[in-house]
Amino acid sequence: MRRRGGEAGILRRGARWPATWHPLVDAAREALRHARGKPRWAAAIEDEHGRIHAGASISLPDLPAASLCAEHVAVAALVSAGSRNSARVVVVARGPAGAAPPCGRCLQVLCEMGADPEIRWGTCASERGRSTLARLLPSAFRDYPRPGARAR
Ligand SMILES: [Zn+2]
Repeated sequence: MRRRGGEAGILRRGARWPATWHPLVDAAREALRHARGKPRWAAAIEDEHGRIHAGASISLPDLPAASLCAEHVAVAALVSAGSRNSARVVVVARGPAGAAPPCGRCLQVLCEMGADPEIRWGTCASERGRSTLARLLPSAFRDYPRPGARAR
């Protein structure tokens, strides 16, 4: 489900999280304690009101297709709280080897929230990369077929 690096904004050695990102990293750190299965990730999303919604990954080794990325769980928490947009997203892994941007499925789900959030990833201790949703998913799927619409 994860891919490694590749995009601009990769921090080769990692860097301390900027102070403005500490509330998101702290929320993700707490969620990471509750992640199920291995590997483990956590995500935190700041919504349009400045509220933070966290999610922990749910890895099901016997049923991998039903596993949930931390970002997906965090988006579910955001929507369940009545929020509509994501402003900032952080994803943390237990170690630097797992630090990666969201997968394509999660990027598409974030795209459905209708904003272009800044996305940063790393471990609880250090930032390893940063980008935006538009840069990570430049060709987002938006042209859904509508029932009754004419084919083009
Ligand atoms: Zn994902």
